[in-house]
Amino acid sequence: MATERTFSIIKPDATRRNLTGAVTKMLEDAGLRVVASRRIHMTREQAEGFYAVHKERPFFNDLVSFMISGPVVVQVLEGENAVAKNREVMGATNPANAEEGTIRKTHAESIEANSVHGSDSAENAAIEIAYFFKPEEIVG
Ligand code: UDP
Repeated sequence: MATERTFSIIKPDATRRNLTGAVTKMLEDAGLRVVASRRIHMTREQAEGFYAVHKERPFFNDLVSFMISGPVVVQVLEGENAVAKNREVMGATNPANAEEGTIRKTHAESIEANSVHGSDSAENAAIEIAYFFKPEEIVG
């Protein structure tokens, strides 16, 4: 498997509890390299655009409000099989179902405030990376 890139967000519940470093260490320990990183406070429009695929889901409005409730850290991660590796270290969406040792089992507060986002496919990773980063901001 060739080196690939994925997109990650450290969500407001994690930045609020000062867990940016702790979460990043878990990503790095899983073999992922942070090749771009920026701390931002998303606008409502930005968050709605990012989660547009979930527009019709019942949790959409609450999710957008949560994602703009505080700063987030948007990151590009690089490594072998990065998309799947990141999903593995993140753990299940609902922390109650997440495996021991995963970021969500260790740190998440709830199914909504679950500390991290990670792209679910290489195709979506490319779209999500381009939503937040210019090519020259990514330094591999
Ligand atoms: N989410 C939620 N309630 C749900 C399902 C999801 O608030 O019942 C939120 C949660 O923050 C999740 C995000 O919506 O991370 C995107 O959902 P998805 O099913 O894509 O989960 P993920 O890929 O993040 O594990």
